Amino acid sequence: MTVKKGIKSPKKRKPLIRALGVGGGSKNKSLRHGSIYGSDATFCPKKVALHLAVPYNYNSQPASPASEFYFAIGHAVHSIVDNRLSSLSAATELKVEAYGIRGRIDNIIYDDDGLKIVDTKTCGRLPTKIRPSHYEQVLTYCLLSGITRASVLYFSRNVADYRGNLLATEIVIDVDDDTLANSARAMAESITFMREQAIPDYPQPRRPNKTSCGFCPFKYYCWEDEPLGWSNNDWFRLKSIPKAMERKISLLTTEILDAMMVRNEQTKKLIKQFGTRHGKAIIGSI
Ligand code: SF4
Repeated sequence: MTVKKGIKSPKKRKPLIRALGVGGGSKNKSLRHGSIYGSDATFCPKKVALHLAVPYNYNSQPASPASEFYFAIGHAVHSIVDNRLSSLSAATELKVEAYGIRGRIDNIIYDDDGLKIVDTKTCGRLPTKIRPSHYEQVLTYCLLSGITRASVLYFSRNVADYRGNLLATEIVIDVDDDTLANSARAMAESITFMREQAIPDYPQPRRPNKTSCGFCPFKYYCWEDEPLGWSNNDWFRLKSIPKAMERKISLLTTEILDAMMVRNEQTKKLIKQFGTRHGKAIIGSI
């Protein structure tokens, strides 16, 4: 076979699917020192401590082609939701930052009952109840913004059923005082362990079983005693929480709950000042 100059022989072309797999980058960028993701703050203080203590390479994994596509689909869904909620929107992608915790609230809407946090997630099959990590993430945003009404919107990546009905569901979170107190306590633990450079011994009671740990990269370390393969002498492991640290955690829990009451007013003022401009207002910088 003669091949014209400038045109590749079919044999030399990369299969298209393999070519799609060359995406690089890091799926899970390590936390900057002294910074906690809003999605982790109340989910598991041990995960927060391990993310900060374990060297960067342990945390980073190359992005798979599938994760790049998931990310792109998630981005598109968020943009449609922002658009559809615009008539109710008080703020979109609002940054929250306090005690070294950073996050971004997808949407805050204003309806007849006042302000409400709306978080958007994409999934495979629609869940019948909220996923543990999503639940804790939204509660973190409640504590940092002072807004105590919240829901999560799930959109299936299958988009619609065979009749053309959109596969989407809203799960409303019951944000009562006990729930907030429990989350404030978890947040205070995360912050205190970060400040003291301590790694707690549990999963329990924060994560009751392996399934509730979701995609945490430390699963085998916590549940199957697999060594982490690292040593960092700046961080120490706690068998139990010492009394002095317990006192700090209790005080901080109260401080977080007290500050939450004040933040509701701050949040309303910031939203009034900045409106729906993307990510301009920062709630609760401390
Ligand atoms: S595996 Fe579970 S208990 Fe261990 S750090 Fe991760 S989320 Fe926490």
